Amino acid sequence: MMANSIYTNTDIFLRELISNASDALDKRHILSLTDTSVSADDPRIHIDINKKERIITISDNGIGMDEQELEDNLGTIARSGSFEFKEQLDEKQEADIIGQFGVGFYSAFMVADLVEVRSRKVGSEDAHLWTSDMDGYEIRKQKRDEYGTDVILHIRKNSKEKKYDKYLESNEIRNLIKTYSDYIRYPIEMMVETYEYDDEGKSKKVNKLQTINSMQPLWKKNKKDISEEDYDNFYMQEYYDYAKPLKRLHYKVEGNTSYTALLYIPSQRPFNYYSSDYKTGLKLYSRGVFIKDEADELVSDYFRFIRGVVDSDDLSLNISREILQQDYQMKALHKSIDKKIKTTLEKMRDDQREDYEKFFDNFGAQLKYGCYDNFGMNKDVLIDLLMFRSSRSDKYVTLKEYVENMKEDQKEIYYASGESLEKIKQLPQLEKMLEKDYEILYFTDPVDEFLTSVIRDYDGKAFKSILKGDLDLDSQEEKQELEKKSEEAKDLLEKIKEVLKDKVSDVRLSTRLKTYPVCLVSDDELSIEMEKILKQMDQQGAIAQKVLEINPDHELFAALKKHAENNEDISEYATLLYDQALLMAGLELDDPSAYALKVSDLMLKALN
Ligand code: ADP
Ligand code: MG
Repeated sequence: MMANSIYTNTDIFLRELISNASDALDKRHILSLTDTSVSADDPRIHIDINKKERIITISDNGIGMDEQELEDNLGTIARSGSFEFKEQLDEKQEADIIGQFGVGFYSAFMVADLVEVRSRKVGSEDAHLWTSDMDGYEIRKQKRDEYGTDVILHIRKNSKEKKYDKYLESNEIRNLIKTYSDYIRYPIEMMVETYEYDDEGKSKKVNKLQTINSMQPLWKKNKKDISEEDYDNFYMQEYYDYAKPLKRLHYKVEGNTSYTALLYIPSQRPFNYYSSDYKTGLKLYSRGVFIKDEADELVSDYFRFIRGVVDSDDLSLNISREILQQDYQMKALHKSIDKKIKTTLEKMRDDQREDYEKFFDNFGAQLKYGCYDNFGMNKDVLIDLLMFRSSRSDKYVTLKEYVENMKEDQKEIYYASGESLEKIKQLPQLEKMLEKDYEILYFTDPVDEFLTSVIRDYDGKAFKSILKGDLDLDSQEEKQELEKKSEEAKDLLEKIKEVLKDKVSDVRLSTRLKTYPVCLVSDDELSIEMEKILKQMDQQGAIAQKVLEINPDHELFAALKKHAENNEDISEYATLLYDQALLMAGLELDDPSAYALKVSDLMLKALN
């Protein structure tokens, strides 16, 4: 319904202001739990429409704000001058700018050209009036009988592009409340025109104060009374997402820990997912009463993409937040929620593969980090949720699927790491492995190869990079053959080694190449790909032990061998081969200009 338009849809101002009022009521309620002098009776939100004066007032009897808070909470953006150039903007751009500050209090300015906030903080004698027309603001003292806040909107005049008059119609406002704020747990009341019938059955118009919202939180409703749209809207409104969620879980657990949960997996990764302002955790309620936001003790960090609400039947409300953290009830909730998420993901993996792949594109890296973190402490929980692209079809495969598909003689899980699928497919080492019909996992996430150092093996099969030196694939005869060739080329290999002695730890013949004359492999734990990643993370000391492998079946090898046997200098060629190998491994040349000159020389020789 509102996908793609959430930030530019002026309708949402009401939802934002009501949600602030509801927050303020929550805060007063929480304060009353620890401070006996504070009451929180009869909490409510009141909407008043004055059509003649073009004013809507949203009032609450929540926590209120003192002068400083009015200044700090509402003043900042108005002061920042961000709106100074608003005259030059059309309405849509203006709405976009408001959107940039997050849909919050400032959405009021999408429909109002003057906003007043009258507020009296709980416990305080004074009240203040904050006034702003977006060009700045002022605060002065005022009277208010009760604690709480009025947000007074002076609705804009209709323009050619946009009609604002509708916001002065009680029917329209009522619909907005129903659509956007129905699950708010406090009554939202307003005067509504209805018909009353007298004894004679004659109708007459009367104005009556009515509670508009049903107040029953969505998650507390019966599943069969909730439409797909209700579920989606709840998610999109709570998390300001443009897109419908990929997956929803609404369930109830009864027993030792009884609770209801409404959890969602987003269909796209939030833009700030990897930044510190991404909000993790779930909303925690106890019997419909708000306890805390962002309760990240309810769900493991590797499932931090999960959003939603948990409503527990057992949590005692009288506990402070610190104690809450220790609470064994919280631990039990955490365990149960984690388990539920895991089984849901497993089910998706098995029964809704396409959805699972979408999920994995967005959050797979998170699961991998979860596996890697803490020395692999959680690898058993997560390992079967992982997937990797593979040479079989470029599609994702799980490790279980890979192992089931292994060739009869295959003892290890083969992988190749690189920046992207394209880059990996260009690797000279790949050709022969594919020809021999081995499936290769393509590791394109930086964490992938590091992961093998904590996973070690799967189902007893070790992980093996096909870019490492000790790829033990040859038959006895092949090995003997290679040894013989190496012996015959001893002189040449020695000479090349001498030229490259500062650059590679070894130069040797190998059977793994087909089309290409050379490749680079590494002989120790640290692979060439890991070296690249660590260097990007500024760990300059991380250097993989590189070996230059030469293809003895390549014509160039024979030619070079002959050249060396005639006692001619091969040092230029050795360097050129090494440079080629560097390039194919995606590494930088030590001296690209020198390389270019040498290639030009060779071209000249060939052309002349
Ligand atoms: P957010 O609600 O995400 O914090 P808003 O822009 O909606 O951001 O509101 C800014 C702040 O103004 C709130 O955090 C709150 O401190 C204060 N505020 C807004 N409306 C009210 C209200 N009705 N009662 C008390 N405080 C309010
Ligand atoms: Mg808000």
